[in-house]
Amino acid sequence: MNFKNALKQVQKDCDIKMVNSGVFTGSWSKIEHKKKLDSFSPINGKKLGTIALATKKDYKQVIESAESSFKEWRKIPGPRRGEIIKEISDELLKYKESLGILVSLEVGKTISEGQGEVQEMIDIGYFATGLSRQIYGNTMASERKHHRMYEQYKPLGPIGVITSFNFPSAVWAWNSFIAAVVGDVTVWKPSSKAPLTAVATINIVNKVLKRNNLQPIFFLIVGRGRDIGDDFLNERRFPLISFTGSVKTGSKVGELVGKRQGKTLLELGGNNAAIVTENCDINNAVNGVAFGALATAGQRCTSTRRLILHKNIYDTFLEKMKKAYQSVRIGTPLDPNTLIGPLIDQQSVDNYLNAIKTAQNQGGKLVTGGKIKKIKDLENGFYVEPTIIEATKDMDIVKEETFAPILYVMKYKTIEEALTIHNNVPQGLSSAIFTNDIREEEYFLSEKGSDCGIANVNTSTAGAEIGGAFGGEKDTGGGRESGSDAWKIYAHRQTVTVNYGKDVPLAQGVKFDIEE
Ligand code: NAD
Repeated sequence: MNFKNALKQVQKDCDIKMVNSGVFTGSWSKIEHKKKLDSFSPINGKKLGTIALATKKDYKQVIESAESSFKEWRKIPGPRRGEIIKEISDELLKYKESLGILVSLEVGKTISEGQGEVQEMIDIGYFATGLSRQIYGNTMASERKHHRMYEQYKPLGPIGVITSFNFPSAVWAWNSFIAAVVGDVTVWKPSSKAPLTAVATINIVNKVLKRNNLQPIFFLIVGRGRDIGDDFLNERRFPLISFTGSVKTGSKVGELVGKRQGKTLLELGGNNAAIVTENCDINNAVNGVAFGALATAGQRCTSTRRLILHKNIYDTFLEKMKKAYQSVRIGTPLDPNTLIGPLIDQQSVDNYLNAIKTAQNQGGKLVTGGKIKKIKDLENGFYVEPTIIEATKDMDIVKEETFAPILYVMKYKTIEEALTIHNNVPQGLSSAIFTNDIREEEYFLSEKGSDCGIANVNTSTAGAEIGGAFGGEKDTGGGRESGSDAWKIYAHRQTVTVNYGKDVPLAQGVKFDIEE
C-alpha cells in the first residue's frame, strides 16, 4: 500500500481532518487560539495531521463533564452497559482496516500488527460485555448470630488513563471498556507521539453512545505535561490513575498520586528474557525468540531483550538466530512483506546506538546488526538493523530496557544458573522457557523460578491474549489489567454487614452494654 493512499483512506474514514482537535469534552473543542501539535509518521517523517492541544480551561471542562457523565452512567444496569460496549466493538470492527492503517502510519507497526491492535480493542470489548453480567462479590460466614456479611463492587468514579505510544489504542480499550462495564467513565491522556489514533478512536466510540441517546463516557485530553500533566495526576476527582509507560515516568506518577492517597495501576517497562534449554524443539524456539525480539521493532513492553542459552546448543542456536536476523525484511510497514518497521523517533534511534556502544564498552561482542538502516525513498524514517550482542550477566546495560531491537545473549550451564541470570534485573514483566523437559519447565514455574507477572512455556515473551491478567512485578509496577479479575481495580469494593437480629452482639466477643 502506498503512503499517500493510506493517509487519504484514514483521513476519509476516521474523520481526523474534520476533527482537528485533541480535546473531547463531550464535543470537540475548537482549534482557534490554541497551541497545536503536529503528528509525523516514523515511516518517512511526513506530517500526518495537526490537532489543537488542551488548555487549562479545557482540562477543567473535561473533568466536569466526566464527573457529570459518571453520575448518569453509574445508574445504568451493568448488563445494559455491557450491551453498549458490545455495540462499540461491532462499530470498531467496521473501522478495523482504516484504524489499523492509522496505527501503522502513526507508530510504524506493520499492517498486520496495526490490524491486530484494533482487533485487541474489539476482543476486550466483547470480553467486557460478558463480564458485565459477572460483577459479583463473595458472601462470608458471619461469626455473629443473625448477621449477614458480603462484598459488593460499585462504580469507582472518573478514571484517568495515560497510555504509551507503542499501543496507541489497545491499552486505552483494555482500561476503558472494563471500567465502563463496572460503571466508570474515563478521561484519556494519550501519548503525544500518537495523538491521531486517539482522536480517531474517541470519535468512533462516542458516536455509538450518541446513537443510543447517552452522554459521552470516553473523554480525551491531548496536552503537554507542563500544561496539564501535573493537574491530571493531582486531580482528586480521579480516584484511580491507570498509567502505562516507562519506569521513570511511572515512578513519578506513583509518587504524585500516592501523595493524595489515590490508587494507581502501573504498567511499566520490562526487560524480558527467554531461556532456551538443550531439551527444546530448536526450530520452535528460534521462531518464538525471533518473534519476541523483532516484532514491533523491539518496541513492545514484552519484547524479548535477553536470551539465556544452554551451553550445549549455544553455537548452533546463535547461528540460526543470526541467519534469521539477517534475512528479516526491514522497511515500510505498509508493505505486507515487511516484518520490521521503523522506531518511533530520532531519540529512539539515538538510544539504540548508545546502548550498542555501551554494551561494547562493557565487553559485549556484536554478532549482527548494530547500524542505522538506510532505505531508499524513506531517508527520513527511523530504521535500524536488528542487533544481537553476546553478553555476560554482569554487564550493567543488560539490566536496562532499551526500547529497540537489541538482543543480549548469555550462556548458562544449569537450570538454577539460568534462573539466577533471568531474575537478576530490576524489571519483572514477561518471561519464557523453551523446553520439552517437565523438570526444567516446572522449575521455571516454581517459587524458585521466574519472578515475572507473565511466565510462558514454549511460546514467546510477547503477544499476550486479553483473557489473562496482564502486568508485572518489581519495577514493572505490580499492576494487572485486561482479563481475569483485573476489573476489580476499577471498582469501589465494599464489605457489608447486616444485622437482622433483635440485639447488637459485637465481634470477637467484646462486651459494651449501656445501662438504661
Ligand atoms: P513514556 O513513559 O515516555 O510515556 C508514557 C506516557 O506518559 C505518555 O502518554 C506520555 O505523554 C506521558 N507522560 C510523560 N511525562 C508525563 C508526566 N510528567 N505526567 C503525565 N504524563 C506524562 O513511555 P513511552 O515511550 O510512551 O512508552 C514506552 C514505555 O512504556 C516502555 O518502557 C514500555 O516498556 C512501557 N510499556 C509498558 C507496558 C506494560 O503494560 N507494562 C505496555 C506498553 C508500554
